[in-house]
Amino acid sequence: MAPVALAPSPITPTVDFDRDGVQHGFLRLPYSRDDSAWGSVMIPVTVVRNGSGPTALLTGANHGDEYEGAVALFDLAQTLTADRVAGRVIIVPAMNYPAFQAGTRTSPIDKGNLNRSFPGRPDGTVTQKIADYFARELLPLADLVMDIHSGGRTLDFVPFAAAHILPDKDQEARCFAAVAAFAAPFSMRMLEIDAVGMYDTAAEELGKVFVTTELGGGGTGRAETIAIAKRGVRNVLRHAGILTDGQAADGQAADGQSVQASRWLDMPSADCFRFAEDSGLIEACVDLGQPVRAGDLLARIHPIGRTGLAPAEYRAALDGILAARHFPGLVKAGDCIAVVGTVET
Ligand SMILES: [Zn+2]
Repeated sequence: MAPVALAPSPITPTVDFDRDGVQHGFLRLPYSRDDSAWGSVMIPVTVVRNGSGPTALLTGANHGDEYEGAVALFDLAQTLTADRVAGRVIIVPAMNYPAFQAGTRTSPIDKGNLNRSFPGRPDGTVTQKIADYFARELLPLADLVMDIHSGGRTLDFVPFAAAHILPDKDQEARCFAAVAAFAAPFSMRMLEIDAVGMYDTAAEELGKVFVTTELGGGGTGRAETIAIAKRGVRNVLRHAGILTDGQAADGQAADGQSVQASRWLDMPSADCFRFAEDSGLIEACVDLGQPVRAGDLLARIHPIGRTGLAPAEYRAALDGILAARHFPGLVKAGDCIAVVGTVET
């Protein structure tokens, strides 16, 4: 069966991606609704271009309740000048803008999880239309793609930049070189438990250098993790030769203290993940970043229906550090409650 040609994207950029200089505008997506018959979703975008050279595509708030990327990229968009750029930087601080406005992981319009909606559809839901525009219009412009995530309301992470094991080992090496350049406290070789429909996969399949992060969580940003995001974005742009401000890669913490070298973590198998089989009140037994051995108690879940019942125990399946944990105090069966990352020596 011959492939059916897709319709053009309904999204119109108000910026010209081929013009030199700094432009602040929108990706305008028509969205007809009760309070605005011919209304639009207006996704802020900044383009900074200075001649020919590589293109970086930087995104935050792919999930609407993750803030480090949005803060770092609204800040970068407001401060980056064309004379410090060789090539082009496309900045979208809040990729799933309706979700970002609502402070929720998924879109309030269609419940779409943008990072499970790729490659998207030009004639689909609002979230699918955003995915389609990135997949067919923005990703092809880019050489380097950086998508800044955090844990959102329900997870918290040690701060790390990450890339995936890829079939193309040359591409994989370029991705991990960019992760190293980000210089987060941790660098992760990441295993995805639910990779279908991810932006990551769409970028990697086009051969792009792709870097993602998990920089904290709990539905807010912290001074430490926001500083890591700001510094990491600039470090990767310098590494790619796009930011030419004459500064060396920045390994300084916000308080001027020298930060420790990044520690490499691995997710060798699905044994890294612990999922709740009980609902109730979670008792953390290990804090983020602490070392654990196989068999160590990670968390207990107390039944809350009545007193006098023993808690369920959840233990580490391998040696490493606690890299992620469930965030709120109550859990449901099926929630991811802990991720153990193994430490590379
Ligand atoms: Zn996310």
